[in-house]
Amino acid sequence: MISAGKTKLKAVAAVIAFTLAAGANAKVTDKDIINDQATTNDVVSNGLGPRGQRFSPLTLINTKTVKDMRPVWGFSLGGEKQRGQESQPVVKDGVMYITGSYSRVYAIDAITGDELWQYDARLPDGIMPCCDVINRGVALYDDLVIFGTLDAKLVALNNKTGKTVWKKKVEDYKAGYSITAAPIVVKGKVITGVSGGEFGIVGKIRAYDAKTGQIAWERPTVEGHMGYIWKNRKKMENGISGGEAGKTWTGDLWKSGGAAPWLGGTYDPEVDLLFFGTGNPAPWNSHLRPGDNYFSSSRLGIDPDTGKIKWHFQTTPHDGWDYDGVNELIPFNYKDGRKTVKAAATADRNGFFYVLNRENGDFIRGFPFVDKITWAKGLDDKGRPIFNEPVRPGNPALSKDGKKGSTVLAAPSFLGGKNWMPMAYSKDTGLFYVPSNEWEMDIWNEPTAYKKGAAYLGAGFTIKSINEDYIGVLRAIDPKTGKEVWNHKNYAPLWGGVLATAGNLVFMGNPEGYLMAFNAKTGEVEYKFNTGSGIVGSPITWKMNGEQYVSILSGWGGAVPLWGGEVAKRVKSFNQGGMVWTFKLPK
Ligand code: CA
Ligand code: CA
Repeated sequence: MISAGKTKLKAVAAVIAFTLAAGANAKVTDKDIINDQATTNDVVSNGLGPRGQRFSPLTLINTKTVKDMRPVWGFSLGGEKQRGQESQPVVKDGVMYITGSYSRVYAIDAITGDELWQYDARLPDGIMPCCDVINRGVALYDDLVIFGTLDAKLVALNNKTGKTVWKKKVEDYKAGYSITAAPIVVKGKVITGVSGGEFGIVGKIRAYDAKTGQIAWERPTVEGHMGYIWKNRKKMENGISGGEAGKTWTGDLWKSGGAAPWLGGTYDPEVDLLFFGTGNPAPWNSHLRPGDNYFSSSRLGIDPDTGKIKWHFQTTPHDGWDYDGVNELIPFNYKDGRKTVKAAATADRNGFFYVLNRENGDFIRGFPFVDKITWAKGLDDKGRPIFNEPVRPGNPALSKDGKKGSTVLAAPSFLGGKNWMPMAYSKDTGLFYVPSNEWEMDIWNEPTAYKKGAAYLGAGFTIKSINEDYIGVLRAIDPKTGKEVWNHKNYAPLWGGVLATAGNLVFMGNPEGYLMAFNAKTGEVEYKFNTGSGIVGSPITWKMNGEQYVSILSGWGGAVPLWGGEVAKRVKSFNQGGMVWTFKLPK
């Protein structure tokens, strides 16, 4: 009798789930976003929750069952515009929302793979994305789908129709600004950074009322520029950020100082702070701007209500290697004896992994996560790098003809020990899963001057691989000890995000085209499937009608083929594409 009752209940539950899948309750609230990680029936934010841990508690697909996983549908992004697909899908009430290259958005029926609508941003001719025409995904809020465009706009679309509800110009694309990151929504505000550090833009973070598009605050990330709370456009108290021009910069260089927070942010409700990273100071030629060049190549703890910088931690002061400090800072707690440490971790382009106190930005520990770092000898007790001066590219002003400084061989290459591709943190194993690359570069400096809308580097470079048989390395790293628990080497450089699950699995795609699942504890490959083009997107997982699904975008591109120097040759045979693949276990 009891079991018959249970069956009946199950049937009712299935009907409810199916009704929800039809989009009956499609509004996303602040609570939905905060709780995103725990609510496995949807993925409503970038990073599977504002902390960006990219961890799912789902266990149906696990080390025992994953071998049976198979694709259930594929969706083509179509058109001629098949370039790098770096988007992370989100899913709400049975509808998947993704972005594609060239600032396109798609709504897809998550059960069948049928297209519901498509939005194309119709970009102007003069856009200036540095590193392929990519986009990394949307934010959901209320009944809106919000994303940033390559001409530096923020666009909010109705989730049912794909029609524009509001559109705001964040910055001037003709000056080199663009947006490629997924925005983050915190307490009703949609918050975005900007790209453009290679064009001497002024890095800034903007917050808008997510429902109306009304601007709330602006926080420039170059010292010398003031922040504003937009109500009355009042100059704000800047706290430790100061606002003094020229303090850590030389002359007027702060006016075109770069420090673009181009990868978007994470948020931790426990300490109520936003975490954004900032890119390289402009230009790359560091001899033109002696000083630490705040707040370039840093992580910032920011008040989400006002934009005030509460703390900053600079990973590469006076950067001379394009070691953008934008990589995601992931909040996590760990036990130190009986004490709970409110920490956050990040794996920097410069090759060091940092564990910070996320309440105040204090350095807890740091260690190399790649095999070869030559630009620094290590970190001091405050986490500041100990520079290896001979590995700073030479000053062109000291050369015979003044045109080219001495070339140095530096590791990692400017594309980084890790680039934008997000790592994952598993609460179960206590490990971070870091997609890293082993490469180095010849780099030299040249004279340069700022000109609006022109590349502003003052440097030349060639990226080289270090090892014959691999560049990419997926690493499982213990943040308490710095110990590498396992690694998986990959021939091509890794450029896609990672997902960890309570099924003791780690998912990641590679440029060779495979979606792979690894045993989270041992690194053993438990599953692989070739998607037909290189993967540079980030996987998600969710539950629908009682089944666990996994989705990922496939579509080779991004910065490696464009900037990779000798390494680009290694990947030149990889085919382009543009697909979403969705997997589950057979019934
Ligand atoms: Ca969720
Ligand atoms: Ca850069």
